[in-house]
Amino acid sequence: MERYGHFIAGAFTDPASGDFFETVNPYTGQPWAKIARGSKQDIDRAVSAAREAFETWSALKPSTRGKTLYRLADMIEEKAEHLAEIEVRDNGKLYAEMLSQTRYLAEWYRYYGGLADKVEGAVIPSDKAGIFNFTRYEPLGVVGMITPWNSPLLLLSWKLAAALAAGNTAVIKPSEHTSASTLEFMTLFEKAEFPAGVVNTVTGFGADAGAALVEHPDVAKIAFTGSDVGGQKVYESAARQIKDVSLELGGKSPNIVFEDADMEAAVMGAISGIFAATGQTCIAGSRLLLQRSIHDRFMERLLEVARAAKIGDPMLSDTNVGPVTTPAQFKKVLDYIAIAREEGARCVLGGKPVADAPGGQFVEPTIFTDVTNRMRIAQEEVFGPVLAVIPFEDDEDAVRIANDIQFGLAAGVWTRDMARALKMSERLRAGTIWVNTYRAVSYTSPFGGYKRSGIGRESGLEAIKEYLQVKSVWIATETSVANPFIIR
Ligand code: NAD
Repeated sequence: MERYGHFIAGAFTDPASGDFFETVNPYTGQPWAKIARGSKQDIDRAVSAAREAFETWSALKPSTRGKTLYRLADMIEEKAEHLAEIEVRDNGKLYAEMLSQTRYLAEWYRYYGGLADKVEGAVIPSDKAGIFNFTRYEPLGVVGMITPWNSPLLLLSWKLAAALAAGNTAVIKPSEHTSASTLEFMTLFEKAEFPAGVVNTVTGFGADAGAALVEHPDVAKIAFTGSDVGGQKVYESAARQIKDVSLELGGKSPNIVFEDADMEAAVMGAISGIFAATGQTCIAGSRLLLQRSIHDRFMERLLEVARAAKIGDPMLSDTNVGPVTTPAQFKKVLDYIAIAREEGARCVLGGKPVADAPGGQFVEPTIFTDVTNRMRIAQEEVFGPVLAVIPFEDDEDAVRIANDIQFGLAAGVWTRDMARALKMSERLRAGTIWVNTYRAVSYTSPFGGYKRSGIGRESGLEAIKEYLQVKSVWIATETSVANPFIIR
């Protein structure tokens, strides 16, 4: 069995407690590696390494930081297949999906590497005579990064690339279910010539290593991706220290199909929205809003395509739906299926575990119709392959149902009418709107949640500001002594 320690100050190291826990392959149900169980002591060591490294890293020329990120990007591409394979072993998602992610994540390091020397302050047109006023952007210091299990390296890179380019250093706490790929990733930092301590990883559980990272007084900011419940705990703890946070949380995104949509494209969009990644994606289009006039016709084709989805080994290229990642998540998905039945929704596909599956953690692609938006199956994030289909009458009705929810991560709109598409994009309360497509993300475009789906944005030009603070500098150019008892 593989054994992974923490990565602190440029070296792998055993946990202070000497304790390790097992990480399990969701496809086989078998443990395959031992992971260091981090504690407050380990977090203290990692934060002090990151603090020390901050002095060097933040003082480098921004273009030098940028070139270091470019070198890292090249190395990521060389190692993409290995990293993807490790991710599949830990989270059971399709190799094809994880490989496209690990290859793509190099672009975040290139994009923010290029941005490192383009962070500019401004000369403020002052209203005061004899004073020159300008702004400069400065890094925050040590940033704590906490990631979930569904796309470990991609979601980490959305934070890390921007934070490093801005001159911060990092302590990462990956999900206890998927720590190995982040630890394998750490081996690239020395080769890319990062000073030791710029990037550190402490593994372990949210309640101990995670909480200790959030509470550490020398951590300037927490960048968190995970559930809304986890995010709330992090936010409460950070508030006690007036600590900056960004929160990328859950969703229950509406995927809205109008009667004038390209039916085949919309069916594929609905499938991609809920069965890709076995529904374990924050942007899952888990509420399918169907205009009533096309409801039955659409359902017929949707069921035909969903029934053909091949369930199986995530490493095989013809598999469409892999296992659910953790036993707890498996139970949660089945619990929600039971809740939906009790609420009166009609199960028209799946609705049970896959019989004699290896590892035992497969749920059949499941579709419920006759769902009303007040049901729990329509309001709460399942994070599994379970679709709630809700009919609507017209544009007004679609907007009302779509926005009647506490989440606001994303929304899909399927229509051939571009005026309708534009209107919908204005009226839907979500951070990302897709028209006639679904699940598109890029390093160039801001991503984040409205409402309970989060605070802050990742990716795109503005996201680098999440890791910077602005300073206003006033220099007197005339030496006349002002009245010291009055504000200037
Ligand atoms: P989770 O909240 O259980 O855990 C996320 C991370 O937080 C883990 O590393 C965990 O150890 C840590 N954690 C938990 N409690 C903590 C605490 N009290 N203090 C500090 N750290 C703590 O989430 P999960 O089950 O791993 O991930 C699935 C969730 O993530 C879903 O809700 C999904 O929608 C969300 N997600 C959001 C995005 C996004 O970009 N908005 C992307 C992917 C996943």
